[in-house]
Amino acid sequence: MDLLSTLVDKGLRREAPTRAEALAVLAAPDEELLDVVAAAGRVRRKWFGRRVKLNYLVNLKSGLCPEDCFYCSQRVGSQAGILKYTWLKPEEAAAAAGAGVAGGAKRVCLVASGRGPTDADVGRVSETIAAIKEQHAEVEICACLGLLSEGQAERLREAGAHAYNHNLNTSEAAYGGICTTHGFADRVATVGEARSAGLSACSGLIAGMGESDEDLVDVVFALRDLDVDSVPVNFLIPFEGTPLAKEWHLTPQRALRILAMVRFVCPDVEVRLAGGRELHLRSLQPLALHMVNSLFLGDYLTSEGQAGRADLEMIADAGFVVEGAEEHTLPAHRADLVAVRRRGAGTELPPNA
Ligand code: SF4
Repeated sequence: MDLLSTLVDKGLRREAPTRAEALAVLAAPDEELLDVVAAAGRVRRKWFGRRVKLNYLVNLKSGLCPEDCFYCSQRVGSQAGILKYTWLKPEEAAAAAGAGVAGGAKRVCLVASGRGPTDADVGRVSETIAAIKEQHAEVEICACLGLLSEGQAERLREAGAHAYNHNLNTSEAAYGGICTTHGFADRVATVGEARSAGLSACSGLIAGMGESDEDLVDVVFALRDLDVDSVPVNFLIPFEGTPLAKEWHLTPQRALRILAMVRFVCPDVEVRLAGGRELHLRSLQPLALHMVNSLFLGDYLTSEGQAGRADLEMIADAGFVVEGAEEHTLPAHRADLVAVRRRGAGTELPPNA
């Protein structure tokens, strides 16, 4: 059986490919690219149909970070020309979230720069969650506040957060090359904290930082091992004023192969097209929809995405549909923490439902 048939069969059975198979996807020649996309598309359709979940970022606090993540425009001493501000007020954040919901977003991601929140910050974010929920009771809220200390994930869950995002970004082996102020293990620990507190874990990667194919495969297998519910795939935006400003490694074809590999390794979880998609996929963005089942609407943290309306048109033109608030994102066999929390604790579906 050829590689792509094997990968489709495994994906339909929720079975992981071997590392060699995942590496072979990244090494596929350009002339076979559409076959790779079509194969990953079969796996995507099996678990997510033609639905696309829309997410909207609200940047609660921007810049002024003491950490030194090399890819980040908000890092300590960054010369990147970005907006810097400290904590939006709850009503300001709720107004921003409302704009995303009006555009069709089902999830609002509340993001703050920094190593991690203080307990007072968690209080501030809890007030913001309450302000958003008051106006949009159905919207899913994901917090992305950095490394968590003990008890903070529980507090966020009690405040109404559904999910927590903390990306692994790259492999353990490559991590020292993109940050010196915290390590891979710190990131893994925070993802674990969020999961054990009953938050849906969202964790992904950044491709294009100069990593090897092995690093990409390693980080995606690490995410599979952590059993995260959603995997945002970012493509490096090489901001001037950051140490990775000169790293231009991606082509649209490579970006598509990376998305295919992620879909084969994580067949039944939300794979989200995230930062850098316009820059690196360019006119091939619609092809990515055949593999991802989720994307960020409109702008990102410190860079402008294409307008929300253009995203909606792209989704419709490519034959996909925006996922409704009442639809479950994850297939029924996965313990969908977001859906469980909507229905109330103790109403989990049986494992084989
Ligand atoms: S901790 Fe977050 S905000 Fe700070 S430099 Fe790293 S990625 Fe950027």
